[in-house]
Amino acid sequence: MKLSHIEHIGIAVKNLEESIKFYEEVLGLKCYAIEEVKDQRVKTAFFKVGQTKVELLESTDPEGPIGKFIEKKGEGVHHLAFAAEGIEGALEELHHKGVQLIDKAPRKGAEGLDIAFLHPKSTHGVLMELCENKNKL
Ligand code: ZN
Repeated sequence: MKLSHIEHIGIAVKNLEESIKFYEEVLGLKCYAIEEVKDQRVKTAFFKVGQTKVELLESTDPEGPIGKFIEKKGEGVHHLAFAAEGIEGALEELHHKGVQLIDKAPRKGAEGLDIAFLHPKSTHGVLMELCENKNKL
């Protein structure tokens, strides 16, 4: 398995607009994309910091994964996403190593990436995401 870098950090927020203001006006970053991912019931906003992105996630449904997360834990870091080369192979390897996979096969995430989540129970408490940009080549 080859992970090349941290692709993004996912942060759950209550209000996307308010949060974007903080990242832009206080931190001086620029939001370059806002996208709704219906599948995950979120609206996302992206910022680039070097080759790593910050992905803000606002729930569009209180019953969705981010809605539930915010209700339980409030705003904060939600997941860590690694860029993987060969995501299918990586998932198979993780499965064989006994890691609990939330997604057994990759699905489409924001920005058209292939993504898959690993269960925090298997990763020492961190919700991890693997992603691969297959549009690049
Ligand atoms: Zn993510």
